[in-house]
Amino acid sequence: MRLLKKMAVVSFLIISAWKVQADNSNTRIQLHLLDCGTINVKDISLFSPGGDEGFSKTLANSCYLIVHPKGNLLWDTGLSDQLVKQKNGVLVADGMFHLQVKRTLASQLADLGLAATDIDYVAISHFHFDHTGNMAQFKNAKFLVQEPELAAAFSDQARAMHFDPNDYKSIEKRQFVGVSGEYDVFADERLRLIPTHGHTPGHQSLLVNLSETGAVILSGDLYHFEKNMRHKRVPAINTDKAQTLVSMNNIDALLKEVEGQLWIQHDLETFKSLKKSPDYYQ
Ligand SMILES: [Zn+2]
Repeated sequence: MRLLKKMAVVSFLIISAWKVQADNSNTRIQLHLLDCGTINVKDISLFSPGGDEGFSKTLANSCYLIVHPKGNLLWDTGLSDQLVKQKNGVLVADGMFHLQVKRTLASQLADLGLAATDIDYVAISHFHFDHTGNMAQFKNAKFLVQEPELAAAFSDQARAMHFDPNDYKSIEKRQFVGVSGEYDVFADERLRLIPTHGHTPGHQSLLVNLSETGAVILSGDLYHFEKNMRHKRVPAINTDKAQTLVSMNNIDALLKEVEGQLWIQHDLETFKSLKKSPDYYQ
């Protein structure tokens, strides 16, 4: 009798373990890295005060698609696809930035068999123009944005903060979902929005929990390139330096906790080293 009981307990444990595994396999997700242009910065010390004065540097401009069983989520929308028509790129901000788009975001989604209307969620790290360029393409999407960022985007201060309201003024108000603090997008700990305020009022990062690769944090513009991360340099274009430094420390702690890796979206060397869509991480 006792033996039978033991056997029942053991088989229950085996079935439970199998169930957990089965549930995990149901939420297998894919992370695609998309090329949303490049930005050549004439004087990179703008992003690293105290260092590299007078040196130019090319930054990648990365966007990401996460394919989840419950929906497709795009993280940032990059520079406008319209820029593809300017074969030699364009100079903006008194020649400080040279912007170039060689492949449109739309064409990279099309390579995956997706139209803009197939995107269910668009989460925006922050509203600087190099992250919002194609927002209006996504007519069916819910836009997941931290509340302070939404307030700033629709305030009189938007342009002074280097936001471009032309990118999002045509989007219907009901499409915006204001988020306060951490937010588990599909309530399964696969995609977590992490508040990293400071660079802008409601800047956020995205923790992607992949089955094989492990945890990856997409850091928005918490850092612009690897060297800035090492030296914890806060760019000149920044809303709140003290808050930014707190966010940097919070992400350091989170990286340790989840044993994850940080992908700096503007870091060209990181971009070059990673698999590009249609390939993906899972
Ligand atoms: Zn940026």
